[in-house]
Amino acid sequence: MNNSPAGVIGVVGAGTMGEGIAQVALQSGYSVVLFDIQADVLQRAVSDIHKKINRLVDKGKLTREAADGAVARLAASQDIAHLAQAQLVIEAVPERLNIKRDIFRQLEQVCSKDTILATNTSSLSVTVIGAGCQYPGRVVGMHFFNPAPVMKLVEVVVGDDTTSEVVDAVVRLARSFGKHPIVCKDTPGFIVNRVARNFYGEALRIVGEGTADPADVDWLMENGAGFRMGPFALMDLIGIDVNLDVTKAVYHAYHEEPRFRPHALQARMVAAGRLGRKTGRGFYSYDTADAAATEVPAQLDRNACAEQATTQVGNVVVIGDTPLASSLLRRVAERAGKSLANAGVAYDGALADWDTVGIQWRADEVEAFLRRCRPDIVLVGVAGEEAYHRPLLQAVERAVGEDVLILTSVAGPSATEQAGWLRRGDRVRGFHVILGDNGFVKEAHPAFEWTVPFQAQTSDAEAEERWNRRTEALALSLGCVPRQVRDGAGGVVMRILAMLFNEAAEVMREGVATAEDIDTGMKLGTNYPRGPVEWMDDLGIPVVWNTLCALSREFGDDRYRPSPLLRQMVTAVRHGNREGGSVQWASLTK
Ligand code: NAD
Repeated sequence: MNNSPAGVIGVVGAGTMGEGIAQVALQSGYSVVLFDIQADVLQRAVSDIHKKINRLVDKGKLTREAADGAVARLAASQDIAHLAQAQLVIEAVPERLNIKRDIFRQLEQVCSKDTILATNTSSLSVTVIGAGCQYPGRVVGMHFFNPAPVMKLVEVVVGDDTTSEVVDAVVRLARSFGKHPIVCKDTPGFIVNRVARNFYGEALRIVGEGTADPADVDWLMENGAGFRMGPFALMDLIGIDVNLDVTKAVYHAYHEEPRFRPHALQARMVAAGRLGRKTGRGFYSYDTADAAATEVPAQLDRNACAEQATTQVGNVVVIGDTPLASSLLRRVAERAGKSLANAGVAYDGALADWDTVGIQWRADEVEAFLRRCRPDIVLVGVAGEEAYHRPLLQAVERAVGEDVLILTSVAGPSATEQAGWLRRGDRVRGFHVILGDNGFVKEAHPAFEWTVPFQAQTSDAEAEERWNRRTEALALSLGCVPRQVRDGAGGVVMRILAMLFNEAAEVMREGVATAEDIDTGMKLGTNYPRGPVEWMDDLGIPVVWNTLCALSREFGDDRYRPSPLLRQMVTAVRHGNREGGSVQWASLTK
């Protein structure tokens, strides 16, 4: 074998990941010794690598010379002793601790004591794998994502004994592979698999309790939050069984932490053999003639829908101090004179100084303002504790006539809870929307989720229907597409996002990874439209806090307890507001 000047990489296990990692190393100029105990697996891997590298020449991505060189630098062996020449070995054998520890013991016997030993484990502890080694300081995690040649992310996992020199060397190696390394402490799920858990877990809860069905949740997450695929379509693609296994592994590794608790609905799907695309049936059906129709969740034609916005909804006023209120305010102003008659009046004074003494004064101001502008619809986007939120909403009710629709954000308490603070809850509706000017939902016609408070369902059906139609007309007038879900704290989109954000806050609090690495990990490892930390800054940290507090109250379940770091941030934000500054993660994590 020609030893490349770049060095020799050993790869143990020639399965899905080992083959991909070997290909990446060869393309990056390294020599590779690929080791597996099965001859046929080795043969297939070598032939696959040849084919894939040659295909890159056909596509014009690699020169013939470079491809020939890469192929010539590959050696395959069933004898572990051939790994002696490697400066670094990456292990990718099945996810079983005893097999991995055994391999590492054998590697220590054949390799020099300076050889770095990396594991591609996705759920085992790097510290535990290295614990049986004579030199555990050289054991490190290099968690590639599947398919390794395509996915840009590598999680570099630092075991308790891993030396900083080894971490630096592995980070450099990952960069030389053209990858983006992020560094994290050895904790279950590392960064990506941990933060992503509640993209699925919370969605399963929402469906399990009947708040929305899978197609609605997927549609809202795609069209209301900019995810490429909703959680249910994605679980069908990954395999519902594979997804459940990861959830269970993380849940048990954290000793039954409620945030990671698996859901009975998912377990039932697996027990019934409904595993997703691979079995023709999961949350959607794929095996019938009309599979194409069911593959994509049924949805409205959003453009057509928004074009229907001909109804004049009247004078719309926005009250609030949140990023949601500011974006609504801009949207209302843009649409004034088009689909909205005489719209664009708004109050966006600094409501959230969180100073209880000032609240009544603020409420009086809001009341006087609303009396002057005589709205037909009031949109309320407030994030705050009840002691502050309640008097403001009551001021809105006092100021407006009986026929005014009050739409209040459910990024916090449910519409039912908020309507309970008022004399008349029947004309209250809950809503949530993320508009394009928050910078990440690129679509022209974002999803607008709305809810009917419990109190409104007890009034007469005709009146209820009239308020509902006005809510939909308002959404359409704003260029959004309405979708009703059952009322609850956080609605659908904000509830799932708040859980992702809370986990990101916990990862930061525990010092597992930096804000920047969390954001990079979620964007590159799971294709999220934004990193959770920067996203929190955009949506407003108090809004996230409010949603989690409301969920905690509503369910009394420990899984919704906000991260202590989030609490500290909210306190800092309040202080910042009082001082006239603005506090964000970005300003704290530089
Ligand atoms: P795989 O089953 O496709 O391949 C494992 C290979 O290891 C097989 O070819 C097997 O013959 C070989 N092997 C078994 N015992 C061996 C031994 N003692 N010595 C040498 N070779 C041996 O598995 P995979 O999907 O490539 O996963 C490998 C590792 O990568 C696991 O730790 C897994 O958790 C992790 N991982 C997998 C993915 C994925 O999507 N598949 C993604 C990231 C990480």
